[in-house]
Amino acid sequence: DEDAEYLVSLIRSIPGFPKEGIVFRDFMPVLADARALGILMNALEAALPVDADSFDLVAGLEARGFLFGPALAVRLGKGFVAVRKAGKLPPETVKQSYDLEYGQATVEIETGSVHEGARVLIVDDLIATGGTANAARSLVEKCGGKVVGFSFVMELLGIHGIESLGDCPTSSLVTMP
Ligand code: 5GP
Repeated sequence: DEDAEYLVSLIRSIPGFPKEGIVFRDFMPVLADARALGILMNALEAALPVDADSFDLVAGLEARGFLFGPALAVRLGKGFVAVRKAGKLPPETVKQSYDLEYGQATVEIETGSVHEGARVLIVDDLIATGGTANAARSLVEKCGGKVVGFSFVMELLGIHGIESLGDCPTSSLVTMP
């Protein structure tokens, strides 16, 4: 519809960023526009992959999951947990490493922020291979929590990111080639 078209019209595609061969999808202009930001937040809530009663926490992935994750958490009456890249959080933390195309990366959360038995919705701006989202889920599970769903703004087609999440309920608002 008109709102969806307006939202998509504000997503920028930047060829060659951050390196050659990659088309970077940028949703910052959506956040900067009051109408589009409202549409985005309403759409994220309407597209929730599971009932809001079935999770306790929203976990956002660094860095762009921090930009709308807390706003979604406020709307739903949930807490927010930051899943950060290694080395940013004070101790104690729980860590999870994962493989990148070249090398490895590590994500961390503060010990105690995901309690035993916590039910978690993971949010991020974009899913590509799914490597980051899967690492975040492993991290939540290390803490004794359970990931009940994933919400993304954008999904890159053709690289099976959402399939890599298995049968966990997942939503994405915009699919991009
Ligand atoms: P994945 O681990 O699924 O391969 O990559 C997803 C992660 O990389 C997300 O945290 C996402 O923010 C970031 N990312 C990868 N490609 C893009 C892109 O084209 N645009 C944006 N905004 N983020 C990207």
